[in-house]
Amino acid sequence: MAKYTIKHVCGHEQVHNIDGREADRHAKRNWLDTTDCSDCYRAARDADLIRANEGLPTLTGSEKQVSWAMAIRVKLLPRLDAEKAALIEAAKSDDVRAIVHAKAARMRAMPSAQYWIDRETLRDFDGRLRRLVVAQLTKQQEAK
Ligand SMILES: [Zn+2]
Repeated sequence: MAKYTIKHVCGHEQVHNIDGREADRHAKRNWLDTTDCSDCYRAARDADLIRANEGLPTLTGSEKQVSWAMAIRVKLLPRLDAEKAALIEAAKSDDVRAIVHAKAARMRAMPSAQYWIDRETLRDFDGRLRRLVVAQLTKQQEAK
């Protein structure tokens, strides 16, 4: 392991521990020369996340949870929108379409960072809207 001071493209210098064979260390140093320092990288990533989450409810949770959940939410919402569009198209009545809209809006508005983190971990996000709609329709059917 060796320490190298890298001058990053953002203009900041940062010390990196680089190990491995000399050729690999050299390649890694050359690559690091073309990147932002870790502070600038994080700041840019956070700015991107904040931009992508504009107009969405503010998430609640620890700072780390919120930042993680923001990244998950921007990945999941296009999937929710796609599933919603497919369900709307397949819906056979305005009642069903209204349920799809309501359930999708409710999912989109979930303010808990943990909600989004759980969706990522469970990997069950696709089909979730459909299951919620089916559950609601079943409940309504039973109430009749
Ligand atoms: Zn920097």
